[in-house]
Formats: sequence, C-alpha cells, structure tokens
Amino acid sequence: MIFLVSDKGKLKVAILGLTCCGGCQLEILNLEPVLLDLVEVIELVNFPEAQSENKDGPYDVAFVEGSVTTREEIERIKNIRKESKFLVALGTCACYGGVQSIRNFGDVEEARKQVYDDDGSHIDALPATGLDEHVNVDYYMRGCPVDRSEIVDVLTSLLIGKTPEPKHYSVCVECKLAEYACLLNEGKLCMGPVTNAGCKARCPAVSVPCDGCRGPYDQANLESFIEILKEKKISVEDILRKFRMYTSWAPQYRNLKVI
Ligand code: SF4
Ligand code: SF4
Ligand code: SF4
Repeated sequence: MIFLVSDKGKLKVAILGLTCCGGCQLEILNLEPVLLDLVEVIELVNFPEAQSENKDGPYDVAFVEGSVTTREEIERIKNIRKESKFLVALGTCACYGGVQSIRNFGDVEEARKQVYDDDGSHIDALPATGLDEHVNVDYYMRGCPVDRSEIVDVLTSLLIGKTPEPKHYSVCVECKLAEYACLLNEGKLCMGPVTNAGCKARCPAVSVPCDGCRGPYDQANLESFIEILKEKKISVEDILRKFRMYTSWAPQYRNLKVI
C-alpha cells in the first residue's frame, strides 16, 4: 500500500468508533505536540469524536476503534472497509474484542433477563469480536489504550509510502533493554513473556506487572509460560483471570486450557 503525499495531496483519514470506551481516539487527540503538523499533511475527513462536520468515504486510511457487538456494527464495518484503502484496527477492542469480550464466556440470555424488566430481547447483543472476524484488517494497533508514538509511526510510514511494520517480539524484550527489574522473578504474574511489544514495557517501568493489554505475541510459548507460573505457585484461577482480562477472545486464548 503506497501513499505519496507529495504526488496525491493530503492523506484522507477517517477516525471512527464502534463499541468501546473511546480512549484510543482520545489518544489521537492527546497528540498535541504533533497534531498541528499532522493536519498539514492529512485531511481528517471523518472524525465525529473531534469535529462536527464529517463526510463519508472514500478514505485513504480508516482508523477504527472498538469491538463489533451488534448487527448494525457488522454492516458499518463492512461499509467502512469498502470505503477504505487501508484499515487500521485501533486498540485492543478492535484487534481482539477487548475487555467486553469477557461476556462471550457468560450466559448473555440470562444477563438480559437480570438487567431488563422485560426479557431484553430488544437489545441486539452479539458476541464481542475484533474487526477481523468480519473484514480484512491491514494493520493491528494494539494496546488499551494504544501507544501514541505508534499512531505517529504508522501515519509517517503511510505518508512516505511504506507499509507499517508491526513488532515481532514480546514486552520482555523492551523491558530487558530498559533494564527494569523482572517482576516475574519476584513471583508476580507478569504477562510480558507472551504479550506483544510496542508499549516500551510501560507497566514494569513503574514496577507494575504487565496485564497483557497488547494481546498474545505471535511466537509465545503459552504452555511453557503457564507451567512457569504454576511453578511459582500462582493459582490456576489467577492465571485464567489474567488471560481473560483484555484479550480473552484472541484466537490463541479463547480455548486456552490452564489446568
Ligand atoms: S482498547 Fe481500551 S482504551 Fe481503546 S477503546 Fe478499547 S477499552 Fe478503550
Ligand atoms: S518484568 Fe515482566 S516484562 Fe519485564 S522481563 Fe520480567 S516478565 Fe518480562
Ligand atoms: S506492559 Fe503490558 S499491560 Fe502494560 S501497557 Fe504494556 S502490554 Fe499493556
């Protein structure tokens, strides 16, 4: 996918949201130091969270945040895909389904009855999934929320005509390069060994174990990792809870056996 701004004018960008908290779009707005430079080279065609005048596609790049949880959202993401040359899944909800995919393991019908006075059948509630269960995704920008520097890196790559490259290593690599103390060695449940890098080991940097918000690293040895956690006397319940926290609907995790 090649975009050369000097040849084609400004990059036409859409920033849109499905079911989520809106935090990843907020990270784009939090790019204050570079935001004015960016709008010199991109045209924000459709960004309802930030502007009142918006247009439909076509777009060069669409950043879509949030998981797909209703029939209406399936239609929306299919239409966005048709209108976009390059589709970025923005954040862990869009990449894997996010925190709300925990509900995929529960009894939604029972929850409807508990929450609503009637049977709740008017509520359209499908299992919460990432975008790629319905459309092709060109780039997965992981994290809950995403890392601001990755937003700039991806846009810069596209602006100079390069396809952005994801990282193919774990949070532990970034953690060790920064020489932070290893929390797993202290017996704490740190998901760094199985989690995609890209956050600069933000949590271990402040002595907090990684919760795995960037999802499973593609070459992670889950079996060995779980064995190590058990050797450290971490309970099966705690291990399962951690895998179910942010990316429980990732294909590698959804049928994970911990026992
Ligand atoms: S990935 Fe996290 S911060 Fe981003 S929209 Fe989803 S819940 Fe919010
Ligand atoms: S603290 Fe966590 S991320 Fe850092 S090296 Fe240890 S296990 Fe890996
Ligand atoms: S250290 Fe883990 S939980 Fe913290 S931001 Fe990075 S991937 Fe997410």
